[in-house]
Amino acid sequence: MLAPLLMSSVSFHPSAGCQIIEQEVPSPSRSQVLLKLVCASLNANDIDLYNDTVSGRIKTNTSITPCHEACATVVSYGDLVEGFDVGELVAINPCRPCWHCKYCLNDQTHLCLDTITTNQELAYAKHGMLSEYFVVEDYQCYPVGPECDTHLLSLCAALAGALHRTNRAGPLLGKRVLVSGSNANGLLTALAATLEAAEKVYYLADSEHTILTAMQLGITNIVDTRLSDTHKQEILSDIDIAIETSGSTHLLHDCLYYVSRGGRVVYSSGKQDNVSISLLYLIAQKELELRGATQFDGEFAKAVDLIARQEVNLLPLITTSVPFEESISAFELASSKRPTIKVLISARNE
Ligand SMILES: [Zn+2]
Repeated sequence: MLAPLLMSSVSFHPSAGCQIIEQEVPSPSRSQVLLKLVCASLNANDIDLYNDTVSGRIKTNTSITPCHEACATVVSYGDLVEGFDVGELVAINPCRPCWHCKYCLNDQTHLCLDTITTNQELAYAKHGMLSEYFVVEDYQCYPVGPECDTHLLSLCAALAGALHRTNRAGPLLGKRVLVSGSNANGLLTALAATLEAAEKVYYLADSEHTILTAMQLGITNIVDTRLSDTHKQEILSDIDIAIETSGSTHLLHDCLYYVSRGGRVVYSSGKQDNVSISLLYLIAQKELELRGATQFDGEFAKAVDLIARQEVNLLPLITTSVPFEESISAFELASSKRPTIKVLISARNE
């Protein structure tokens, strides 16, 4: 498969705004694989970056290519790369650790000092996948059979994030688990908790659309946050573990409030919201354990396996798929007030 010299890429730039630009197709280094995008999935970071670009709040001076959730086909690779066929479909683990820092050397690549950066935009600029062609390291590529549904395969990174949250929560077997968050992360984490054989999983959400999607996904114990406190208290008794996925202070409060004394709360948020200091009171009084969850890495292979073997049905999460040349409209839709869960972008020739 020969790559052309030029390709289209989505570009976010502080002065030029959000647009599709033409640029040179990159060449893979000796250890890299050149990929042709098949399908990408927008996540909350992408949408935040879009909104920051539109509003002029974006911090970098460079052009940023968004998106870290995608699948693609192999075009070519460097001379050190083995085990791939040209045209092969791969899921892409976006994690690209340094392999040298103390975390990488301690088998904690998800905490790598090079991957987790305070300058999120810079990480996007270096590794964004919303281009017709892009390069990744060979170890980032997970081959799957050609029969695998490419829309679902683009959700591997999102599912891996959910698996990481449940891993951070500890063994869930026999536990009563509460998951909160009216978004894809919340829905996927509730599903992941079910896969981990929790005794009962309650999903706490506050949007009609998300609650409907949860029902389509087979999540049965759905609790509307708009119920009265008394009603919620009756339903959410003896919660062992709570996982908050949205960064909402309100939902974090609910998790801390409804989890039992001595329980555990996992908090996962990409936002730097002002969490009320008064919530610490609940942690102290109930002797709760609070854990953070950020980037996955080791969970990616399991996510690929679950999707490729069709052991999870994530189809209800997909709101729509937009052609690559209409990528900017996909961002407009995902950041609009219209109810969406996962907006996908599909490349030509799919
Ligand atoms: Zn590292």
